[in-house]
Amino acid sequence: MAKKQLGYVEMEWVCPRCGSKNPGPQKTCSTCGGPQPQDVKFQQREGQELIQGEDAKTIAQGAPDVHCAFCGTRNKADALVCIQCGADLKEAKKRESGEVMGAFSSVPVPDRPCPSCGQMNPAGAQRCSNCGASLAVPPVPTLQAPIQQADTLRKPVKMSPLVKIIGIIGLIGLLILCVVLAISAGRTETVSGSVQNTSWTTQLMIEEFQPVTAQGWANDIPSDAEVGACEYRYSYTADEPQPVSTEVCGTPYSVDQGTGFGEVVQDCVYETYADYCEYTVSQWVAVDQLSLQGSDLFPQLPQAALVSNQRAGESSAIYTIQFNTDQGVLELRTSDLNLYQQAQIGSRWSLEIDGSGNIVNAQPEQ
Ligand SMILES: [Zn+2]
Ligand SMILES: [Zn+2]
Ligand SMILES: [Zn+2]
Repeated sequence: MAKKQLGYVEMEWVCPRCGSKNPGPQKTCSTCGGPQPQDVKFQQREGQELIQGEDAKTIAQGAPDVHCAFCGTRNKADALVCIQCGADLKEAKKRESGEVMGAFSSVPVPDRPCPSCGQMNPAGAQRCSNCGASLAVPPVPTLQAPIQQADTLRKPVKMSPLVKIIGIIGLIGLLILCVVLAISAGRTETVSGSVQNTSWTTQLMIEEFQPVTAQGWANDIPSDAEVGACEYRYSYTADEPQPVSTEVCGTPYSVDQGTGFGEVVQDCVYETYADYCEYTVSQWVAVDQLSLQGSDLFPQLPQAALVSNQRAGESSAIYTIQFNTDQGVLELRTSDLNLYQQAQIGSRWSLEIDGSGNIVNAQPEQ
């Protein structure tokens, strides 16, 4: 997925000492003068304004601010000494950045009255324009990141102990059944039989070279095909921009930069389109299946009367031998012509039979 940058927004922070709201880039409280502690996070402002152009470029260059190791005061990333206590900032701690702050919205928010004097103020205002009182409101709960991995939403399924026990008993039962079946299926016995009857069936495909109409992506159509009507059709979704594509983007959201600003980004994918065409190409197509039957030991293929654009395709044969045994009439179906041709009527054979009465092996007795 491509991340598209839309610009930046100014964030704010709430002073833990006096509860006043302060602009994100400001490092000390405008009401009580206290510094912003490292553990006081930035918040999204109401009535967000997108910062773009030259101002955004300057903001983009800023690295996360640092906190003085001695007095905790927030300082710019490139400052050498603390603005508050003058201490060396080599040991200073960098502010965390990269946290998703929530959805970005530039929709205007209605004005709000000052709790002290009742004056109406813009929703994003940090202090009253009439009496100067702080307009702090309880922090808005941070929204979820707009795009989440599906598997983080999945909850593990808990099984009750009873269900588990029933499941285990069932599995064991199934296992025993499988073993019993395998043993009985694997057991064979040998009986003697004489050939009572034989028969064969042969089949032959007739193919014709003829035009076939199909559909496919323009790139995949064979070069000798005659291309018909095409339409522009959705093909696939790519993570990066493609020559012919439609950009589809999610809700914009802001990401904490650690500087008092949030970067506003959007996750986008690119739906690509391509020509999907009807085309005609000549190829061999099965048009008929001939079949022939007999009862002698010399099977033949069906005779095909082919016309100029036809050819004989695949052929197949199945041979059947019926044996008279102590267990009644048993039938062997095989594609082994050599075996079949030894099945003279009345000849004696040794037959291996499985638990279900099927002949698994047959040999003429010497
Ligand atoms: Zn304060
Ligand atoms: Zn300091
Ligand atoms: Zn006021």
